[in-house]
Amino acid sequence: MSNAPDIHTIAARRVHGLPDEWQPRIYESIERGLGVMLTGSVPLGFYTRGPRKGAPKFPPRRDMQRVIVTSAEIEQTRWDWERETGWCHRCGGGGQTVKSIGISGTTYRNCPECDGTGAAKHIRECQP
Ligand SMILES: [Zn+2]
Repeated sequence: MSNAPDIHTIAARRVHGLPDEWQPRIYESIERGLGVMLTGSVPLGFYTRGPRKGAPKFPPRRDMQRVIVTSAEIEQTRWDWERETGWCHRCGGGGQTVKSIGISGTTYRNCPECDGTGAAKHIRECQP
């Protein structure tokens, strides 16, 4: 599984000039199909002990930023990002997407967009 940021996060950072460390914590869709509202923040730091050691620490929700990215901005970001990185936008180049999340853990499957290759589709199609 890849730790690459998803396309909504990349779009939010680009459209709103947020730093690369900025991460969304809550995703909400606005008006079906119009876009997504992300609530997030730059982590304040990292847990130094306890069971969450190493995990980023976020401020309370009221101190996070709320930003909206429209479907058009997401679409544009998808193409820009694929062109720049050569990676599949859907899985972030990892080749895997989440199939289900359950009590027995998270299961993955090959990304349907790139067939598990992690390569951006339009780039793959250009290759002999
Ligand atoms: Zn993919």
